[in-house]
Amino acid sequence: MQKDQLFTRRRMLLAGAAALGAAGTAAVIVAGSEEAARSAAPVAGPQARQVLKPSAFRLQPLTGYGPPRAAPRKLKVRHEPILRISGRGRHMMLTFDDGPHPEYTPHILDTLAEYDVRAMFFVCGEMVVENKELLARMADEGHVVGNHTWTHPLLTTLGRKEIRWEMKQTSDAIEDAYGERPQWFRAPYGAWNRAAFQLGAEMGMEPMAWTVDTTDWMTPGTRTIVDRVEDGAAPGVVVLSHDAGGDRSQSVRAIRRYLPYLLDSGYHLTVPRRRMS
Ligand SMILES: [Zn+2]
Repeated sequence: MQKDQLFTRRRMLLAGAAALGAAGTAAVIVAGSEEAARSAAPVAGPQARQVLKPSAFRLQPLTGYGPPRAAPRKLKVRHEPILRISGRGRHMMLTFDDGPHPEYTPHILDTLAEYDVRAMFFVCGEMVVENKELLARMADEGHVVGNHTWTHPLLTTLGRKEIRWEMKQTSDAIEDAYGERPQWFRAPYGAWNRAAFQLGAEMGMEPMAWTVDTTDWMTPGTRTIVDRVEDGAAPGVVVLSHDAGGDRSQSVRAIRRYLPYLLDSGYHLTVPRRRMS
């Protein structure tokens, strides 16, 4: 599909959501497939049939949306990150960090599309500016993008001003390429500090960690990555993988194996709601 067509589809989706908001029905939609995601998606994309469907995912407040580019909602400052998703049923969430990468991310997106599944991508600003079209594709295909800083530093070694820069620049780049500011933040290396929680809340982002680490960053072999996901599968689990930061061909191969396994095991792969303004 041509880039222009991607943008056109994305605009159509945004316009559709805006129309719903204007009609007073709701201004939040569920971007993720809550259904067993095997059914063929309609031409307009999976969002079309997901609109207004209540989500089992309860972390995202239902209030606080506003006009485009409104100041972010003030969030409560947490003292620890969210480790898992809540809600009834066999829900899990797949997350991919450090991208987008032109060599690996498209393959992961292809596999997710093949199974009509949405995931979360915690992107780095310096990767976003080089690969804007991949964020447009994520928006078009209903994935949720989170902020993973600009340069992937160890935040605990930085001053507050530097942390703010890392987070703010990245949110700006995401808004430019994806069409919305991120509502989720993940600290590099899972190294959180008070400033990261405070600044995240100030910028309207909830801190999201993970439940199961695939350790794919150590390139332990495709089989090990698959085993870690399949052995760790349980309701509410958030899986950490990577689509950049090194050779991620094992991660690309692994998802082709564990994704059908999870779906066959009755799991719904879900993502947080997207706030469409
Ligand atoms: Zn990372």
